[in-house]
Amino acid sequence: MSTEKAGAFSITARSACGARCGIVAVCGGSGALATPSCVVPTFRGVVPFLPPDVVGQVVAPLAGRAGTGPPAALLVQGDAIKVVPAGFDQGFAAFAALDGPVMAVVADPARYNMSGSRSKSSVTVETPAGRTSLDIAGYKALLAGLKADIVELLVDVPQPGAGTRRCAKALDNTTAMWEALAAADDRSAQGALVLARVTGGDAGSVVQQSVALVRKMAGAEVLGGVVGGVVVPDLRSVAADSVTAEGGYASGEAALAAVAAELPDSLLRVYEGVEQPHEIVAAVRDGKGDVFYGTYPTAAADLGYALELSLAHGQKQHVNLRDVSFAESQAPLVAGCPCYACEKHTRGYIHHLLVVHEMVGTELLMIHNHYVFQAFFADIREAIAAEAAGGAPFADIAAAFMAAS
Ligand SMILES: [Zn+2]
Repeated sequence: MSTEKAGAFSITARSACGARCGIVAVCGGSGALATPSCVVPTFRGVVPFLPPDVVGQVVAPLAGRAGTGPPAALLVQGDAIKVVPAGFDQGFAAFAALDGPVMAVVADPARYNMSGSRSKSSVTVETPAGRTSLDIAGYKALLAGLKADIVELLVDVPQPGAGTRRCAKALDNTTAMWEALAAADDRSAQGALVLARVTGGDAGSVVQQSVALVRKMAGAEVLGGVVGGVVVPDLRSVAADSVTAEGGYASGEAALAAVAAELPDSLLRVYEGVEQPHEIVAAVRDGKGDVFYGTYPTAAADLGYALELSLAHGQKQHVNLRDVSFAESQAPLVAGCPCYACEKHTRGYIHHLLVVHEMVGTELLMIHNHYVFQAFFADIREAIAAEAAGGAPFADIAAAFMAAS
């Protein structure tokens, strides 16, 4: 079943309920990305609160577990415009001292706001220095500098609640940009796995046309990379009355299910807007998502929370380390956790660091939370592979996780 083509996605195991394990054979020298997986978001080119030399060490206790390597980093192309210097030729991973694969996307999951002018040759993106226009020439130059392992094609995404005309215009613009990129005679993507996003906003009929466009692009070589994946927007919030028009869907859930069913099975599915552990388990169970954005561990650490989470035991209530009751605690963040933060530090010490606004406190929470999340995905991969090898059904494990959380 596997295809050993550089940049290709291949499925390695399936469960009866539709969950799947796979491998993105990335070609940048950073090894393979095993799925289901979560990528760690960066801001201005770095993982928030984590020095570059720490990022690769977060998963050290997971050595030897299914497909676990240095975490993949999520890079927003708007951020990258200001991060990657002109004439840059070493690639982003080398620049930011990251060990794992790098995935570059257009829309920032933390600031999902792409208002501004768009056309058939450019989109507006957020950068650390404000909004700017990213046109086809600029996009190609960016890809050539980034040397990312997975890249998203330039795409026009309408604002939530945009009317059908705006949604249709977004698809027109996207179609024109993709045709221009497919026709371009250069190798900017350099063997990367290329993602095509489903666009169309709240307009069901436009979403259907967008899925048809993604299907058409699947397997095509664009800028030297192969279109082997799709970014699936979270369509669940789509209001029923906005999708019941002719050619639309009966509800947001129906739209999502239909989109998942209509997309080629062979595409890597990057599932946007699904961040909570129980949502992730449900999406994996139903075969809707292979790669997720790891915004949840960062958001929790930012608020002073330590995650307690495992596929076998469910998600427990988060521990709020700012709470004064932890001031004297000699316990680790989570008993039995093998991460660096829990091995070396106590709740009382981390509480103190947070109270005095010492950044190391948040850094330790980030190490713990990202370790927990990466271990959670290792659990998921191993459970799917175990069912394929005759073990317990993943659907039962997912149901038990939901019940325990
Ligand atoms: Zn820990």
